[in-house]
Amino acid sequence: MLTLIHKACSSAAVEVDPVSVESFTIRVKEFPFTCFTCLEEIESKSELRLSEEIRM
Ligand SMILES: [Zn+2]
Repeated sequence: MLTLIHKACSSAAVEVDPVSVESFTIRVKEFPFTCFTCLEEIESKSELRLSEEIRM
C-alpha cells in the first residue's frame, strides 16, 4: 500500500485507505491541504514523502 508521509511529523499526510496511485496524484495537486495527522498545512510536494508499506 502506498502512503503519503508528511516529513515534519513522519506520519500519514492523508487518510490511509486503499486508494490507487491515481487518487494520490489528484490529492497531491490540491495544495495546500491539511496534514491528516498533525493538522499542519502542507504547501508543497517537497514536504511529502511517498512510502510503500506492506501490511498484512
Ligand atoms: Zn503532519
